[in-house]
Amino acid sequence: MLSRTGYTLRHPVHLSDSGLVLTSRGCLQAGQTTRSNKSLAIMSGSLYAGNVWEPSRACVGLKSKREVKSDRMAAIILDGNKIATAIRAEVAAEAKSLAGIGMRPGLAVVLVGHNPASEIYVRGKVKSSEEVGLYSEKHTPPETATTSELLALVEDLNRRDEIDGILVQLPLPPQVDAKKILMAVDPAKDVDGFHPMNVGFLSTQRPGLVPCTPGGVMEMLRRSNIEVAGQEAVIVGRSDIVGKPMAMLLINANATVTVCHSKTRDLPAVCRRADILVAAIGRAGMITRDFVRPGATVIDVGMNKITDRAEFDRFFKGNEKREQAFAKNGSTLVGDVHPEVAEIAGAITPVPGGVGPLTIAMLMANAVRAAKQRRGSAVAIG
Ligand code: NAP
Repeated sequence: MLSRTGYTLRHPVHLSDSGLVLTSRGCLQAGQTTRSNKSLAIMSGSLYAGNVWEPSRACVGLKSKREVKSDRMAAIILDGNKIATAIRAEVAAEAKSLAGIGMRPGLAVVLVGHNPASEIYVRGKVKSSEEVGLYSEKHTPPETATTSELLALVEDLNRRDEIDGILVQLPLPPQVDAKKILMAVDPAKDVDGFHPMNVGFLSTQRPGLVPCTPGGVMEMLRRSNIEVAGQEAVIVGRSDIVGKPMAMLLINANATVTVCHSKTRDLPAVCRRADILVAAIGRAGMITRDFVRPGATVIDVGMNKITDRAEFDRFFKGNEKREQAFAKNGSTLVGDVHPEVAEIAGAITPVPGGVGPLTIAMLMANAVRAAKQRRGSAVAIG
């Protein structure tokens, strides 16, 4: 079967170093901004001349974390939107060349029922697929769908050769056995990377499909030239979709990794060991400055909607832009990291606009990767 043989990765997709990844270890990269105008000017002025880029003495970068610490400068902001745009452009170029040889990558999204948040996520995924030139289709079984009906749909999608990626939007209604559905997805089409076979590939360092959010975090670190090998990484959260795969990816990249959870003793002290701290908890602003070693890189995966005025004030009092948005929408998003952490971190992801945009970009990348892995051998023969 193509889907199995293709899995041996004859034609692996490597998101190419588009030139946005610079050779200097010490300077700002695409997708990084600080709040300082000077740094912005430096960045825009020196960004990228081909793949070789000579560091200037004036650059502000992660090698200068100690300066950041001593001068109490605001953290470098790791701009997920910019990095996601770069990834999407690379994916679009790949999709175009694949389409040119009759192998347009196809993504099927399954949305069961009418969960409002899921509807928004799925809309974003379908829109993004179209923008990068993937073929996409959306299946919307009713809220009352049974496990066997959904299994039949997944099996049909597994069989169809023009579908390279299958994404079943979670959560599924309570009557559905979600694990059974996820297990039924062909691992070669499992663009979420949740199938146990892909989990096993990741933990044994074999090529497979990697969950999008932690995969996006790794891309962010890589493209921001943040050193991982040999660094102490602490992850707060051990979910199957974020915390655990994040740990595997960081171990595979030679970090020394600690995974924390709700039973961890003295969490702030453990977190303070981190050169790279990843928060994937689902608790608004839980990671305060006491958890962070000055100069550390802080990756905030959390996305928490707050509607309560008192809670809003706790995080954003005096922040004019947020005030306006809150007044208009009655809510705002906050990560698991308290905004005050930006005062001492070396680099930090914002919420929104940090890890979130990368998740969708990596989904697109996974769809193209799946197409190449699964159909690559057929194309080479044809
Ligand atoms: P999850 O399945 O609920 O897992 C949360 C983890 O945090 C669990 O391991 C839990 O520990 C741990 N935890 C909870 N309270 C804690 C505490 N007080 N101290 C220490 N650890 C604690 O959540 P998830 O699916 O991984 O998502 C985490 C966050 O990321 C959520 O805000 C979610 O919305 C967000 N997210 C964002 C994206 C994106 O694209 N940006 C994608 C996925 C998720 P136990 O295991 O001991 O219960």
